[in-house]
Amino acid sequence: MEISLRNQVAVVTGGSSGIGSGIAKSLASAGATVIVNHSSERSRDEAQAVLKEITDAGGKGITYQCDVSKEDQVVKMFEDTVSQFGTVDILINNAGIQKDSKFTEMTLDQWNAVIGVNLTGQFLCAREAIKEFLRRGIDPSRSVACGKIIHISSVHEIIPWAGHANYASSKGAIRMLMQTLAQEYGANKIRVNSICPGAIQTPINKDAWSTPEALNSLLHLIPYDRIGQPEDIGNLAAFLASDLADYITGTSIFVDGGMTTFESFSTGG
Ligand code: NAP
Repeated sequence: MEISLRNQVAVVTGGSSGIGSGIAKSLASAGATVIVNHSSERSRDEAQAVLKEITDAGGKGITYQCDVSKEDQVVKMFEDTVSQFGTVDILINNAGIQKDSKFTEMTLDQWNAVIGVNLTGQFLCAREAIKEFLRRGIDPSRSVACGKIIHISSVHEIIPWAGHANYASSKGAIRMLMQTLAQEYGANKIRVNSICPGAIQTPINKDAWSTPEALNSLLHLIPYDRIGQPEDIGNLAAFLASDLADYITGTSIFVDGGMTTFESFSTGG
């Protein structure tokens, strides 16, 4: 059995770092041409480094700067991708940020920034991707499906998170966005799913793993007793995007070392 994404074009938002970089590399190793998206000038070098790893391994792709919370920029990213590569087959809706605060001190700017990237960004990219899937239609030389969207959600789509109301709200909403799109476009053979990571070792949660004390305390939440790595998510993303997963749509898959089994109950509560 081989996971193949040959002849397919994948947009990976937030592909310059962490989970997105792991997914970009996994999709490229399965044969997809990957658009490694990043938002800022500051992360251009990181995006180029991810692309270099991809091309050094024989894969294909480009980097593309676009702030996914900005409608005009998202529309242009999809237009440019289609004009350069012909179409888009796979969207990995991964870009995400945190702006943490005790709820009563949370500013509207902190709320809007997180909802803007984590939720509105996923809406805008999904809308442009689905328009392109429908324009192209099914092409069996690419995939039996018309298109695939994978939302990167979080265990916090079901676990409430004190001090992170904006983030947890964005992830809870992604579940309904994902399921609604899977329902609305299932008959068009567009598959839409979410991956819900637990604790994955990336810059977004550095405070949770960068000292032995922090890591030890984090591991108390993870029955499998290790922090996750970006490739743990990349492996699943490649499978979910492939035709091997053709009957999987409208679901959230947790990749969390058992975090959602609630380790604190392991001694009987
Ligand atoms: P990360 O290492 O901080 O990477 C975030 C990526 O998103 C970067 O490439 C960043 O690029 C990009 N990004 C941020 N704002 C953007 C915008 N407006 N437009 C386009 N790209 C933007 O974080 P990560 O841990 O890999 O997180 C990736 C996703 O996984 C997020 O949705 C996060 O919520 C989710 N997640 C992570 C964990 C975890 O434990 N790490 C757990 C559950 C869910 P720039 O630097 O250019 O902005």
